[in-house]
Amino acid sequence: MSYGIRFDNTYVHLPDTLFAQHEPEPVSEPRLVLFNRALADELGLDAEALAGDQGALLFSGNELAEGAQPLAQAYAGHQFGHPNMLGDGRAILLGEQLTPDDRRRDLQLKGSGRTPFSRGGDGRAALGPMLREYIISEALHGLGIPTTRSLAVVTTGDPVYRERVLPGAILTRVAASHLRVGTFQYAASQRDPDLVQTLVDYTIDRHYPALKGAENPALALLEAVSERQMDLVVAWMRVGFIHGVLNTDNITLSGESIDYGPCAFMDAYDQHTVFSSVDVQGRYAYGNQPRITQWNLARFAETLIPMIDDDPGTAVGKAEKVIHAFPDRYEEKWLAMMRRKLGLFGEETEDAALVQDLLSWMARQGADYTNTFRDLIREAAPDDAIYQDRGFREWHERWQARLSRNKKPLASSFCLMRHNNPAVIPRNHRVEQALEAATREGDLGPAQSLLAALATPYEDDGTLADYQQPPAPEEAVTRTFC
Ligand code: AMP
Ligand code: MG
Ligand code: MG
Repeated sequence: MSYGIRFDNTYVHLPDTLFAQHEPEPVSEPRLVLFNRALADELGLDAEALAGDQGALLFSGNELAEGAQPLAQAYAGHQFGHPNMLGDGRAILLGEQLTPDDRRRDLQLKGSGRTPFSRGGDGRAALGPMLREYIISEALHGLGIPTTRSLAVVTTGDPVYRERVLPGAILTRVAASHLRVGTFQYAASQRDPDLVQTLVDYTIDRHYPALKGAENPALALLEAVSERQMDLVVAWMRVGFIHGVLNTDNITLSGESIDYGPCAFMDAYDQHTVFSSVDVQGRYAYGNQPRITQWNLARFAETLIPMIDDDPGTAVGKAEKVIHAFPDRYEEKWLAMMRRKLGLFGEETEDAALVQDLLSWMARQGADYTNTFRDLIREAAPDDAIYQDRGFREWHERWQARLSRNKKPLASSFCLMRHNNPAVIPRNHRVEQALEAATREGDLGPAQSLLAALATPYEDDGTLADYQQPPAPEEAVTRTFC
């Protein structure tokens, strides 16, 4: 039985310094607790056959699918600014699935045991964090943001030892690829110029085929990756997403969000919001994400210098031009995005101030980022207590005046706003409740209801109230652990 698996593996044919062939370690008692049928269908997998015990065997790594060539990838990465040699310490790439529409998707097990890159780690993952990755990645997908996907979570029957003893689990992650900035950093550290060139060609083949035959492929790749990463961070800012660990090993070349550790969505608007328990300096705070993305792209650029030009000075000049263009270009894209959130068509010079003044008001009031934008989608000014404030009323009048200068009817503005402002996000206290229920009682019900609500986050059918409420003070979860 092939279960629709159609592996066509390419990474395993790259130079073998880039990975270690390695099999997942078997687990005691695999049990499939979440399975993404819609994604299985998209991948061309036999969802019916995989939804039970057979899925548990394959998605735990206890049984290897036909054509699997399991490997752990080598990579480096700047972690909180410091360079390290890393690699898949607890993940195994099973193979590359060709989908019915001939796209190529990595199938990777995360939490599948030790690898040659595990260093001190146990190679395992706890159920809570794997559920968080499943929920948040599927939420971003529902929001229309490029992301790795989650196909399955299997509990292993084996304990993992963290601050407390936790149930072990394995996540099956689906990605356009697992190429990261850190992959290039690793290759650049090997003192083999051909290795980075090989990666440049491979990445262009896999993610940027339009660049094939470009006059300067490495420079063109840098520009293209910058563009995708910029679009990604703009999308995160739009929905209030805080990744939490924007280390260079967590920045993909494909432009997908990857590696959901202590990530969370912001409730009250505040640029300084940080959830990660380890990010004490706020390096990866909500408002720092664009700057950090630029920093990460500069690290990527450094790996490409020898490929950009034979003369190092010329190469650095060309790379710097791309990196230095980031802030203005980002600002432009960000403002365009904020215009859509406010239903503004066309451009007026005062738009930037209009946007900024609303955000400043929200910051002063501690207004909920998600709900404020949704509350604006109505004919009259919203009348909840928080909006009785004079600052808000004055802003609302300016906004109304600006809307009236749109060359389109109000209904078009509201439609634009409905498509850019989610009605529901995975609020951190709801996510924590779902993780706790699963971890303590083996109850996946809360996770499943949350996932159902997040599948169509721009639609408000009136049944979402539970998920729309910001946390009461005693419910707020402000620190997230991975
Ligand atoms: P992350 O912070 O999730 O991006 O992971 C950084 C590095 O730590 C990667 O090389 C991971 O493979 C590795 N790592 C994380 N958790 C474990 C673990 N439990 N066992 C082994 N390696 C791990
Ligand atoms: Mg990582
Ligand atoms: Mg991780």
